[in-house]
Amino acid sequence: MATVSREHDYLGSAASRLGSEAAFTVFGRARELQAQGRDIIHFEIGEPDFDTPEHIKAAGIAAIQANFTHYAPNPGLTEFREMIADFATRFRGLRIPFRTENVVVSPGAKQIIWNLMAALLDPGDEVVYAEPAYPTYAAAAEYLHAVPVPVPLREARKFSIDLDELTAKVTPRTKLLIINSPSNPTGGVFTREDFALIADLAEKFPRFVVMTDEIYSRNIYGERFVSFAEFEHLRDRTIVVDGFSKAYAMTGWRLGYCLAPPAIARVATLMANNTYACVSTFVQKAGMAALAGPDTPVEMNETFRHRRDVLVAGLNELPGVSCLVPDGAFYAFPNISQITMDDQRLGSFLLEEAGVGLLGGSCFGDAGAGYLRISYASSIDTLKEALRRMRDALPKYRA
Ligand code: PLP
Repeated sequence: MATVSREHDYLGSAASRLGSEAAFTVFGRARELQAQGRDIIHFEIGEPDFDTPEHIKAAGIAAIQANFTHYAPNPGLTEFREMIADFATRFRGLRIPFRTENVVVSPGAKQIIWNLMAALLDPGDEVVYAEPAYPTYAAAAEYLHAVPVPVPLREARKFSIDLDELTAKVTPRTKLLIINSPSNPTGGVFTREDFALIADLAEKFPRFVVMTDEIYSRNIYGERFVSFAEFEHLRDRTIVVDGFSKAYAMTGWRLGYCLAPPAIARVATLMANNTYACVSTFVQKAGMAALAGPDTPVEMNETFRHRRDVLVAGLNELPGVSCLVPDGAFYAFPNISQITMDDQRLGSFLLEEAGVGLLGGSCFGDAGAGYLRISYASSIDTLKEALRRMRDALPKYRA
């Protein structure tokens, strides 16, 4: 114990403000149980279970063999940035094209979110975002002494934002508004009308920048994906964050990017210069192959849609559980409030008792209390087995 406190003395005060993404903590415990010989189903971690497509792997291997193993420019290889700008413009159906100067490549979307927030926020600045939310938004804001201002998402509105509640939270101190559609953890999708009202707010409060985290833009089951970037008159205040992890099953490659107004992109480049320097050159080459090759996200989506339907139907048959059909991402967010509001305790119980790893909704902020997050990137057989185990275990849970 003495060692711990001495070690603790060495830490800067900012270390005490560092949050953590619960998915990785639960994943760690699930792996421990597995090492003890338990049969564990992993629904806790948000990654496609597909392997990276062969043509992308082959391009990465070929790039290593061709010695693309040296430093790359801080914002990314120019030809890769050109391809990203072109893809992002076409995919979103934009009139004003993104240009190379807008693109900064990063080792995952997470890193660029953090770096952008570090570049934009002063202490006391308010960061508005819908909650339950991807935990990095609040973690970065708190680390930077900015003020997280969550706006609760309501199940009754299919987990889209209540614009009156949002309007009430935006003030002249708001510096950043973060949108994440399709959303982690709810799978909810914002409509064009939602975005139009956010765009109106942005015009009323000219100080804030909109960061639209579109990492699940390829995981959409309803109509065409709508991007906030379509509100092109706000281009000088809009940052799009996207990446390869979820779309191309490339989580471990660490490859993401932002599309930002040039002034912000230049600071993101400087942040890259001072932190990760550049993304591995051969990883960028693999990313180029992903954008140039067959559109694998579309094929993966069909599989995800089928799994979603099986899982959600099964969840709705469990006593005390109800679940909306999510329109995007690969998460189900069932309501378990009839069983308990202590979702994290129920989550641990299901892991320890039934060997099903999943997350309590409150890992994504207070607004997630009374829900579970289930990543359904697993085979149909595994989903059915997990549902069977939950059906057996839930009656044994004592609140
Ligand atoms: N944004 C959201 C909403 C996410 O859920 C994730 C990953 O789970 C990320 C960003 C980061 O993705 P990556 O760093 O793998 O590109």
